[in-house]
Amino acid sequence: MSLLVVGSVAFDAIETPFGKTEWTAGGAATYFSLAAALLSPVRLVGVVGEDFTAKDEAVFRGRKIDLAGLERASGKSFFWAGRYSSDLRSRETLRTDLNVFAAFTPKLPETYRESPFVFLGNIDPALQRNVLKQMRRRPKLVALDTMNYWISRTRKELGKTLKLIDALLINDEEACQLAEESNLLRAARKILRMGPKALVIKRGEYGSMMFHGDSILAVPAYPLEDVRDPTGAGDSFAGGFMGYLASHANANHGLLRRAMLYGSVLGSFAVEQLGVARLRTLKRREVEARVRALAQMMHVQI
Ligand code: AMP
Repeated sequence: MSLLVVGSVAFDAIETPFGKTEWTAGGAATYFSLAAALLSPVRLVGVVGEDFTAKDEAVFRGRKIDLAGLERASGKSFFWAGRYSSDLRSRETLRTDLNVFAAFTPKLPETYRESPFVFLGNIDPALQRNVLKQMRRRPKLVALDTMNYWISRTRKELGKTLKLIDALLINDEEACQLAEESNLLRAARKILRMGPKALVIKRGEYGSMMFHGDSILAVPAYPLEDVRDPTGAGDSFAGGFMGYLASHANANHGLLRRAMLYGSVLGSFAVEQLGVARLRTLKRREVEARVRALAQMMHVQI
């Protein structure tokens, strides 16, 4: 079943101890789409500038990614530059040039308006609500991402949006900021009272947790010897999680738990190479093999 994603499509410049790229495909919606399309068809809504050529678009081609919603505006595409520390544990943002993304108002093509699964990427919460208004009927599952910028500047607007969604996917720092709580469990309980029925907290190399009703699931990050570039890991996690649910046309408790494994695995592949390089060569069978290995690692009999 189709999965709609709204978010940034960008050019990134990334510096890591293992190498750098000066101009590569990036953006949250790009990582999300490449990860999710391995599992289910994706409909992308985003904006790029005149500098985004047919060659740049090739990153999406040959996959189940519909680009009818990728708007081309006059001006330059979103550009982001970041540099990682030698242990890859911290990142400095060197540049964020919003360019055409600054005036981005998502417009859903007619063919997108009945998508049963929707992922609202990290944009202004009022615009996220506007996307939902354009849907012809309530999707089966709406998930949302946000970041510190929107939590601190548009808390009230974000509160209204949270009431309309089913699942929230954020990192641990954002969860604590949103809940104004330093303890993660307390923060999670508080966030579940804000609207979403499921809360996924991503914790980078420490794994991820899902809070759904009264149940908690903790999933490790897939252990890797070589991590080269953490950029986009969270977006790829979200792509794996949502892609799996969309492929089952359902989001019951058991599927949500299994979707966490797909999220963790897609995140782990994303960090193996610089930028989106690993996602571009990744095959479905490699995803399935790693999901099985991760499930095995988590199995304990008591
Ligand atoms: P992550 O590593 O999960 O933070 O994702 C990094 C990706 O998000 C990069 O490819 C950037 O192009 C994109 N990005 C960076 N800043 C923003 C922002 N303010 N809004 C939307 N996307 C962003």
